[in-house]
Parts: sequence; structure tokens; C-alpha cells
Amino acid sequence: MKPLVHAWPSEGIEHVERCPVCGSSGREQLYSGLTDRVFDCAPGRWDLYQCKGCQSAYLDPRPTPRTIHLAYETYYTHQPPVARSTERMSGAKRLVHALANGYRNHRYHSDLEPANGLGPYVFRLLPRYRKRLDRKMRSLPPPKPGGHLLDVGFGSGAFLLDAQRAGWQVSGADPDPVSVMNGRGLGLDVRQGGIEAFEDFAETFDVISLAHVIEHVHDPVGTLKMAYGLLKPGGLLYVETPNIHAYGHVHFKEHWRGLEIPRHLVIFNWESMTKTLKKVGFTEIQNLSIPSPYVNLAGKSRAIREGRDPYRFARKTLGDRFNGVRVSLPFLADGRKTEFVALYARKDHSS
Ligand SMILES: [Zn+2]
Repeated sequence: MKPLVHAWPSEGIEHVERCPVCGSSGREQLYSGLTDRVFDCAPGRWDLYQCKGCQSAYLDPRPTPRTIHLAYETYYTHQPPVARSTERMSGAKRLVHALANGYRNHRYHSDLEPANGLGPYVFRLLPRYRKRLDRKMRSLPPPKPGGHLLDVGFGSGAFLLDAQRAGWQVSGADPDPVSVMNGRGLGLDVRQGGIEAFEDFAETFDVISLAHVIEHVHDPVGTLKMAYGLLKPGGLLYVETPNIHAYGHVHFKEHWRGLEIPRHLVIFNWESMTKTLKKVGFTEIQNLSIPSPYVNLAGKSRAIREGRDPYRFARKTLGDRFNGVRVSLPFLADGRKTEFVALYARKDHSS
């Protein structure tokens, strides 16, 4: 990977004196001089701190809201959704794929092909694998009549299309104008921007999804508060975000794929996220975090450590697979150290 020589424009940098999650000023430096090693497109060298109050990590200084777009020049969400080809799969893999599609068609009313009708029965017996499939659909509950879902940071629109097929009325927001143009081309109700693009829609949504979004925003607590305001009483917020306490971070340190500097401005952990949600007013937090992303992230983190493009040279070793099993062993592994924090939180029925 070529060394980054450009600096971030100096007028496009802001200082962060207090933790953007809990407001504490106590901190220690985790890493200094970090560069964009994931998409190799953002200029600058960056320092990451860990808050002594809530243990979240955050960039200081960081790009301003006005200039942050410079970090997204070759970001991957521009691509339209593509179906996975089964042509080059072995017979056994094709069968597993068809069973998985059968389960998803049954549970989420999708029409994936090829599908095997035994899928729902097979995956009922395999809860660990079922959770992996559910993760693709963010474990959506069955929709109520007219149930309205908002996906913030909808990217390619693949999830919006899947949710629509499952019976949801769907809307999406994304700061990327290309994503918005593609989304409109797919006939979706989408707006350009973050969650604030829907700020006039108080108490409108049954589900709001913030998947891999909260780590990108300048005011994460403000975003969670707005989500609370836009949900109907009893509505659900889905959050998925990298976990600074992840096993992968402990192992790969500054090379961990989850850091993604400088696009990730703040990296939560299970405790800081759940505490913040409760402060905002959410209740009934349901942990949906799963250990399986470990292996995938380890392959990419290793490529980053070797100075290679993690999307072309990810390499999963036998050791990664062994660690993948180790971090998923019930009773031995800590469920709060998964690569991502994933959860549902409910807005109180009486709000
Ligand atoms: Zn903090």
C-alpha cells in the first residue's frame, strides 16, 4: 500500500476535548499517527483516545462535518446489490446455501433462489447458525400491518429491498448522493443525509436501523436521541457497531479492521452503548451480538498489518479459525467482547 503523504486540510479539523459518548475529559492515548489503511483514500494521520469514564474510543482531532466527505471517496457502498452466484460452489456448499435461503424465505418472506424447503426445520435445530442468517436481516420482527421501517445509512439498499419484501413499508437515509440516486432508481423512498433527513417524522417508525452508522457520526448521542423521537411508542431501535473491547482489537491492536480511521469517529463497547441507550430512555435491550465475525475481521486485520489491501488480500489462517471457535465457546468466551455490538432497544410503550 502506498504511503499517505497528503495532510487533511487544516481548516477541516476540529478538536474533541471531551468524550462524545459520556462527556468525560479523562482519557489515555491508544494510538497515534494512524492512517486510512482500509480504503486508502482519506488523507491525514490521526490519534485515537480511550475515555477513562466509559472506555469508548474516539478520534481527536477529527475531520469536521463539512469536510468528512473527503474520507469517503472510494467507499464501498456505491455498488448496487448483487446476488451471490452458486455456479462455482461445491455440491455440499450449494445445499447449505439453498437451506439457508429456504430458512430466510420462510422467516422473512424473501424469494431467494435456489431454496430448499427443509431450511426452516434444519436451522431451527442450529441456533448458532440461525443467528448468523438472522443477522443479515437484523433479526427483524414480523411486521405489523403498515409497519414502517427506517434504515439510516442504507448504502446499496439491499436491506431496504429485503425488508420491503418481508412486508415492511421502508424509508432510507444516506449521506452519499450516489446511494440516494441508486435507491430512487430501485423505487425506494430515500433521502440524502443522516437521520436528521427524517427529523420531521416524530413517532412515525416501528423500527429504526443504525447498522454501522453510529461510529461515523459527529454527535452519536444526538443521533440516538433523534432515533428515540422518531420511533413510535413501543418501537425498536437496531444498532450494530464495532466494539473497542472486541477480541479482534485485543489481538490485532492498531491493525484491527474495526478501527477504520478516520471514518470511525467513535467506537463504543457493550457497556457504553447500553448505558447511553438507557440514558436516552430506551428499555428492554436485547443482545444480538454474535462471535462469528471474528474470523472474517481477522483475515482483513492481518492484511492491514501486512500493509496490504484488506479487500483483496484478506487471508484467514488456521489460527484464525481456531480463535474463531475459542471466542465463541459458551461459558469460556465473554459475550461482551464480540467484534460488533448488535442489539435491539425499545422505546417505552408509555412514552
Ligand atoms: Zn466516555
